[in-house]
Amino acid sequence: MSDNKPVVNLISKPENMLKTVYTACRTCYSADYPINIYNSTDDKEKMLKLIERVISSGHYSTIEHIQVSFAISNVSRACTHQLVRHRHMSFSQKSQRYVKEKGQFDYIIPPTIEKNPELKEKFENFMGEISKVYLEFTEAGIPAEDARFVLPNATSSSMVASLNLRELIHLANLRLCTRAQYEIRMLVKGMCDEIIKEEPWLKPYLVPKCERIGYCDEDKSCGRKITKEEVFKEKVTV
Ligand SMILES: Cc1cc2nc3c(=O)[nH]c(=O)nc-3n(C[C@H](O)[C@H](O)[C@H](O)COP(=O)(O)OP(=O)(O)OC[C@H]3O[C@@H](n4cnc5c(N)ncnc54)[C@H](O)[C@@H]3O)c2cc1C
Repeated sequence: MSDNKPVVNLISKPENMLKTVYTACRTCYSADYPINIYNSTDDKEKMLKLIERVISSGHYSTIEHIQVSFAISNVSRACTHQLVRHRHMSFSQKSQRYVKEKGQFDYIIPPTIEKNPELKEKFENFMGEISKVYLEFTEAGIPAEDARFVLPNATSSSMVASLNLRELIHLANLRLCTRAQYEIRMLVKGMCDEIIKEEPWLKPYLVPKCERIGYCDEDKSCGRKITKEEVFKEKVTV
């Protein structure tokens, strides 16, 4: 397959995203009808200011009104297995029951193996061996749903994934962290880049969680931000 990188495209998003979120936020504090708020608002700076205030105070229902969808391919099953752990997302994934592999199945090679020619060769030979066994099984009449048991985590997959803005921000906060696995980081970065191209105002939210909360709450910190322990120590000393 192509170059080992997730292929990500934003395929659906609502129009007037900013205005919709602003209307949701403003409605909470206004006697006016939401439709009047929506129709009378065009001041971008004013909208962004209120949205930041509301999101920062954890009033997240206001960003659940926005649903976006991505077409994703060239990712490993190891990666999609991590993505599907996010329970507020919706998925439609290429089936290993209905789509029978006809020749060498596509697979992803992790960069650590890719850059080592000897190990890369071993990896590729092994994928070839697995493919032979898979084909032997399917040709012997074993259904694809059973033959797939020999396929590895490296097998590449495709899916359509949809989620609301609250979950997208949560996903970015968790999976852009350096503690997340490299491939899901690349995938989520691709999703964020796609949406930021269309909606640049989302950039400050689609960041690792430490950028939002100001400290690192991970067990092993990458050192980008002060750790939670250090924050509490400082508070106690003051
Ligand atoms: C760096 C990293 C390492 C990981 N390592 C492992 C691992 O070793 N093993 C492993 O099994 N998983 C691991 N995970 C997956 C992790 O445990 C979560 O399953 C995954 O990140 C989904 O996150 P979430 O539950 O916060 O989010 P989502 O499922 O996206 O849900 C979003 C939020 O909704 C709320 N929510 C959702 N469902 C419930 C519920 N049933 N009850 C209460 N609140 C709910 C929570 O507030 C949650 O944070 C890892 C994740 C990361 C980022």
